[in-house]
Order: sequence, then structure tokens, then C-alpha cells
Amino acid sequence: MADKIVFTYGDTSDFRSNWANDALVEKLHKNVNVSACDSRLESFMEKIVEATANNRNVKMAMEVCIHCGACLNACPTFLSSGDIRNSPVGRGDLIRNLNKSRKFSGKVFGKLVGSVSLDQEYFDTISTYYYQCLECRRCGEICPFGVDQADVTRTVRSALHDVGKISRYTATVIDNVERTGNNMALPPAALKSTIEFARDEIKEEKNIDLKIKIDEPADAMLVPPSADFFSNIETLKGYMLFLHVMGIDYTFTTEHAELANFGLFSDYKHMGIIADHLTEVAKKNGVKTVIAGECGHGWRAFKNHVIPKLEKQGIKGVHIFHLVEDSIRSGKLPLDPSVNDGKSYVYQDPCNYARGGDLINEPRYILSKVVSEYKNSPHSRERTWCCGGGGGLLSDELLPLRTEYAKLWYNDARSVGGTHVIRPCAICKAQMSHTLPSLNKTYSDSVTSSGLMDLVYTAIPGV
Ligand code: SF4
Ligand code: SF4
Repeated sequence: MADKIVFTYGDTSDFRSNWANDALVEKLHKNVNVSACDSRLESFMEKIVEATANNRNVKMAMEVCIHCGACLNACPTFLSSGDIRNSPVGRGDLIRNLNKSRKFSGKVFGKLVGSVSLDQEYFDTISTYYYQCLECRRCGEICPFGVDQADVTRTVRSALHDVGKISRYTATVIDNVERTGNNMALPPAALKSTIEFARDEIKEEKNIDLKIKIDEPADAMLVPPSADFFSNIETLKGYMLFLHVMGIDYTFTTEHAELANFGLFSDYKHMGIIADHLTEVAKKNGVKTVIAGECGHGWRAFKNHVIPKLEKQGIKGVHIFHLVEDSIRSGKLPLDPSVNDGKSYVYQDPCNYARGGDLINEPRYILSKVVSEYKNSPHSRERTWCCGGGGGLLSDELLPLRTEYAKLWYNDARSVGGTHVIRPCAICKAQMSHTLPSLNKTYSDSVTSSGLMDLVYTAIPGV
């Protein structure tokens, strides 16, 4: 049975992200035309005042929140830590309580002006706690007034970005994708070699010969998160075998081999240029369809910020699950779920499929056809727990905090006897692989994890 969650820390102020150095900040600022500011604190304050006036969610958080506390029981970072500053209402208060300089006093915040001055220490506290938020939107689902703290977090992080305070991990990933077209800065030769390796493994395991296209003309372009070329090879093999069996003519691209979009975790301007680049590459390759791989926030960014741009070019954008579901329903995809017997499967929704996107029923339908039996997690669908690595928190320095956050979904799975957790998202998969060894040790258990296309791969019969 699940263990009761206990507050391990009570104070998580020591868990600070490592910050990007000046050279890295300068590169990122140059890419989105942000000029250096003379005074970081004053400039941050100006941006917060502007956001409070113009951003509906920030305005709501500042003016409508009645401190009812309903969001506390929903927020994984508060439930895991017990630190009120690491909660939706606490994070909101860090901004709300700012006692701005006379210059701004009364103009925008009016009666909301509190009693805290923005000095360096307070600025550091804001940076720390806004980079402990998972941007999971669980609070927004529960708040009776619809205050969405994830959007407040994104807005505050955007102001932090513009004054040069960006987590080193997030900044490095954005720099990588803007320089090389993928988050891991994998060169074209490495991508090609991984794809060929996956093709050879499929031949060995299924006795099926696949022809692969890389940067070649095709009907469709497959865009997985780059982690699938590095650590989620079974997921990659799932895409490749499925598309082959269904006879879909597709190409990989080395120019934008990335579905993830870390602009969502730091600054909208970066999200926009990353989305623009993916659209340009699709147009250049002359494809009719772009197929997105398994990635929660990547799908959210793709659905909301790439598909509208693609459609203007006459290109369609779909998730691989849409294609798999259609193929199963039309009886065209041969599957043998019995090969996946032997584990007790639990499905857990990635936040950005359930609360930020619209992929709730499709993965369940597919899972029901590739395993003989599976269970839903007790906190399911819109109430799913974040993996604990969302919001760009996958950095090494935050691992102890992430492990604490992970106890929520881990014990949820164990409470229904689950031995294998399915979370079809690149961030979830990385977070699970980082935290499961220590969680299994702590709880003397042996829970395993994977994506969903991994199981599609094993269920497709060989010849
Ligand atoms: S649930 Fe909404 S109104 Fe209540 S404390 Fe949280 S943010 Fe404020
Ligand atoms: S977005 Fe998630 S982690 Fe952030 S405050 Fe809301 S519930 Fe907590």
C-alpha cells in the first residue's frame, strides 16, 4: 500500500537552480532581441507591473485570490515539501507582497501593495521558488476562481529571463536547440547513426527490413523529442516499426529533430522562434504532414503554437497516437498484447496531455490493445500528478527535490499494485529513470517504467 506522504523539508529555499552565466544569457538575449538592462531589480519590477496590468492570469492571481487554500491540497510541490512559498498561493504572494518603489506605488498594484521591498535577497527568493514550480496546472484545475499559477510562473520566469536570470539547465537546452535544431545538440551524424542502429535492432528482433529516409522528400516528417534518439530507443523503434507496417512514407529531419520546446518553461519569445524553425523545416522538406512523437509539453507547444503555423502552409500536424488509434480501429495494425504479459501496468497521464493538451482517451485506447490488462492511477486524467521533473526542473542540482516530488505518482502506482508505470512523455521518462532507483531502494520495491510506443513496438508481431 502507498505510504503516507510526509513533509520532508518544510523549507525548500536551499534548492536553488544553478543560473546561466553572462555569456549564455547574452546569447539567448541576442536571439530574441532583448537588450541588457542597467538595473536588474528595477527592470524586473517594471516587467512585473506591466504583466499585472496586461496578463489576465497574473492580474487574477494578484487581485482575485482570496487565500482559500484549496490549491494547497492540489499542488505537488507544496504537498511534497510543506513549504508555503513552494505553493500556488505562496508563489503568488511573493509577487503580490512586493512593496514597490514610490515610482510604481499605487499605479497598478493599488490596494495589493504589500510590505516587502524588492532587494537582492527577495529577488533571489522569487527566482528560487518560481524555479521550483512544475508548471503542472493542477492548481488551476482546482481554484474556484480559475487562477492558473502555471501561467503566472511562466510570466514571472519571462521577466526573470529578460533581466538575465535563467536556470542554467533551461538556458543550455534553449541554446542547444536554437544552434543545432535539437535540445541535446546531437550532430546530424549522431542522429543518423542512432536511426540506423534502431533499424538494425528491428531487423534483428522482428526480422523486418525497414527503409529509412533522413532529410529526404516524403509525404510526412516525424518529429520526436530528441531524448528518443538518445535514451528512449525503444520508443523510437515503436514509431519506426508502426510507420513501416502502415506503409506511411515519412522522413526524419536532422535540421529540427526536436518536438520539445523549452521556451514554454522560460520565455514565450524563444517558444515562438523554435516553433517558427520547425515550421520552416517542414515547409522546406515539402511534406504534407508533421507527426509529433511522445512528449507532453512538446505536444502542447506543437498543438498551440506550431500546428496553426503549419496549417497556414497547407501542412497538417498530428500526434503519432492519432495515427496508431486510427490504424487499430480500422483493423489494419496487427497486434499481440500477450507478448507484454507479466507486468502490472499502470497508466499515468502526463500533465500536458491531460491538462494542457487533449490526449486522454487515445493513449488509453492504444494501451488497452497492446497489453492484456492495465489499471488507471488513482489520480488520473485531469487530476494526474506531475512526474516531478516538469517545468524545466530536470537539472541535477534539483534531483533531491524532484525525488521528493516523485513520491506522489510513485506511491499512487504502488497503491493499485502497479509494477510498471506508463507515461508517454520524454520529460516523464527522464524523471522516472532518474528517480526510480532511489525510490525503489527507499520503499524496497522494483517499479519500472516506459513510454507507450515501446509497448506498441513489442506488440507488433515480427515475421
Ligand atoms: S485556490 Fe485560488 S483563490 Fe484559493 S488560495 Fe489558491 S489561488 Fe487563491
Ligand atoms: S503549476 Fe503545479 S507546481 Fe506550480 S503552483 Fe500550480 S500546482 Fe503547484
